[in-house]
Amino acid sequence: MNHERIEQKLSILADAAKYDVSCSSSGGSRKNTGGLGNSSKSGICHSYTEDGRCVSLLKILFTNHCIYDCAYCTSRRSNDTPRAAFTVEEVVDLTMQFYRRNYIEGLFLSSGIFKNPDYTMERLVRVAKTLRTEHRFHGYIHLKTIPGASDELMKEAGLYADRLSVNMEIPTKSGLALLAPEKNHDDMKAPMQTVQEQIVQFKDSRKVHKHAPKYTPAGQSTQFIIGATGETDHQIMRLSSHFYEKYDLKRVYYSGYVPMLSDKRLPDISTPVPLVRENRLYQADWLMRFYGFGAEEIVDAQNPFLDLQFDPKMAWAMRHREHFPVNIQTAPYEMVVRVPGIGVRTAKKIVSARRFTTLTLDHLKQMGAAVNRAKYFVALHVPNPHLNELMKDNFRDVLLSRTQSKFKDDRTGQLVLF
Ligand code: SF4
Repeated sequence: MNHERIEQKLSILADAAKYDVSCSSSGGSRKNTGGLGNSSKSGICHSYTEDGRCVSLLKILFTNHCIYDCAYCTSRRSNDTPRAAFTVEEVVDLTMQFYRRNYIEGLFLSSGIFKNPDYTMERLVRVAKTLRTEHRFHGYIHLKTIPGASDELMKEAGLYADRLSVNMEIPTKSGLALLAPEKNHDDMKAPMQTVQEQIVQFKDSRKVHKHAPKYTPAGQSTQFIIGATGETDHQIMRLSSHFYEKYDLKRVYYSGYVPMLSDKRLPDISTPVPLVRENRLYQADWLMRFYGFGAEEIVDAQNPFLDLQFDPKMAWAMRHREHFPVNIQTAPYEMVVRVPGIGVRTAKKIVSARRFTTLTLDHLKQMGAAVNRAKYFVALHVPNPHLNELMKDNFRDVLLSRTQSKFKDDRTGQLVLF
């Protein structure tokens, strides 16, 4: 192996992969200052498994050559940038070497599209297949699938990868037509449909044949770029909800657009990355997946954008004060969990503990509730003086003046990434 050339390729292709957040993290920035190891150039990033474990992944593109010209992407064909491509053997070798040295626990492999979707996808599948069958690699493999690749390759990919993802990138059809006119949403949904059908089919086979193989056991995911076009949060949440239901996605990732390229179709290069909005979208997504909220409850046609000053659950509670106070002693679990400051685990503890005792705010605090928020929304067995605030016209201002927001310095604006 030509180490110098491989290092060059790693530098280019790990850097090009950092904008993809669909493995949960965008790479480490730790540099070697005279000690041992260096994760900044080698493309090692951290991701979280469903059970909360943090795993290190080698996160690279197979190539950043691309036949497409998506305006928001640094790999687009018209961008004057250093290009590189690995061979299948190089990616396999790198993965095995990093794994043996305990640098990584898995591989996140994405790619630009060279020649055509099948040509590219076939190479990604060969990497995963070689790792699994020739090297008996049992680490985590996340493959980005290539829109337009044949069904056969999609079916094969899921036999070797733990997770597959198809990035939708631009949430609206009009936005995609503007920024990536060579692509269309239907081409991107087709592989999701194939993967979903295969997951169901393989699950059914395993009911009959215990040793039938697993198909992409960690499921599939997608990613939306936020803020590159004028999409609303309402449109994004509706689409996410649709994907969770129709394709049973494990995760939708939201990636605030990082202006890197000058293009009159894109936000100006000085536009801050919408990090607060990105964070609010993750919170809203969490409400849909774990708190029983529908997309239309969180944002709707009248309120198409998430409140940047308050988290989406608090924003919903403020808009729907008619549902409060929630009687903490008698309300169903579904309402207890909607109280701002009460999470899923705390709500379960409350429902369990109240059978044996009469709950107070102190009890809620001991069970993990953020009482500084919950106290305005709960009825207790004794009068709750904080409820007087709930019905005030200036309730929002009262909350704002008493809330310690991590975005306090710039409540309505956005954070700067660099
Ligand atoms: S197809 Fe993918 S890699 Fe190619 S320009 Fe578009 S977003 Fe970038």
